[in-house]
Amino acid sequence: MATNKFIFFIFIFLLNLSFSSHAQAPKLLKTIIVDAGHGGSDNGAVGEYEGSLRSKEKNVTLAISKKLVAVLQRELSDVSIIPTRTTDIFQNVNEKARIANQYHGDLFICIHADSGPLKTARRQIGTHIVTHYKVTYTGKGKKKKKKKAAYEVEEPLYQYYKLPLQRAGTSVWIFASHKTSDKLKAIIDNADEFNIEAEDSLNNNIDFTSPEMKPIVAIYAKRFQLKSINIGMLVEDEIAKTGRKSLGLNQRQVGIRVLQSTNMPAILIETGFINNEEDERYINSEEGQNELAESITQAVKRYKNIVENGKSTNGAVVQNDVNQDPQRNNPPIVK
Ligand SMILES: [Zn+2]
Repeated sequence: MATNKFIFFIFIFLLNLSFSSHAQAPKLLKTIIVDAGHGGSDNGAVGEYEGSLRSKEKNVTLAISKKLVAVLQRELSDVSIIPTRTTDIFQNVNEKARIANQYHGDLFICIHADSGPLKTARRQIGTHIVTHYKVTYTGKGKKKKKKKAAYEVEEPLYQYYKLPLQRAGTSVWIFASHKTSDKLKAIIDNADEFNIEAEDSLNNNIDFTSPEMKPIVAIYAKRFQLKSINIGMLVEDEIAKTGRKSLGLNQRQVGIRVLQSTNMPAILIETGFINNEEDERYINSEEGQNELAESITQAVKRYKNIVENGKSTNGAVVQNDVNQDPQRNNPPIVK
């Protein structure tokens, strides 16, 4: 590519970014990938507290994802909705990301359920007889003898059990900005599918892996992040409308590799805490699963309207306001 043409290209590209909502042709939201977290041999989190339903995260995420796919298809008939899995199969993170990239997703939604370390408690369930030994010595020097006398004591008998988590609610996660390099790699790896929103005539024969292109690809990755924040805030808003505790939009510094490996805006929704009594019942219930699917769909509809028309259906301004990790205790690791 001639240098002057390249510079011109960069200029046009940055101009497009600067006035993204005005100068740029609207990008249609055509394909949404819905990822049911975990699966197969990977159970994810499991209900472990006393009185728990013993539910497994992989089943909860699949049930919610299936409902979400159905509601999205009903509400957005012009959008392809692609689930990463529809059965109880194992997929590693790369496989999930590969499906998302292969179908040229415009939005990646991961469904998960949260957990955290459980405290153990004990209760007395009776008493039991325990044999102890009292050791005494008689005599001195070579005649010293050890004498062991058994005696029985009645002691309390305890049962140990796990306490449910107090923490409850739904939270939405995006990848951290300093992880942009991973996102950048996902974009570069998918360079042939990279839809750069500039004039087609300038779009030919661009090597996205070249050093000159790296800053531009980085800007593009940043823009995915802004879109991820946008959809994340909307999901958060719709969940809050149901009266359910909403823990906010968060950036996780580590662990959301699935979000970093996709060539598209991506969010991860922790639908509830599987080890919180109320949450576990909610995310396992038809009612709870339907409510989550409807809320997420409403958010996607608003996001689609913003992306395609540059405005929100209710005129709400989406702010760039994301919680950072320190505000959250024990962030769970999502593989
Ligand atoms: Zn998970």
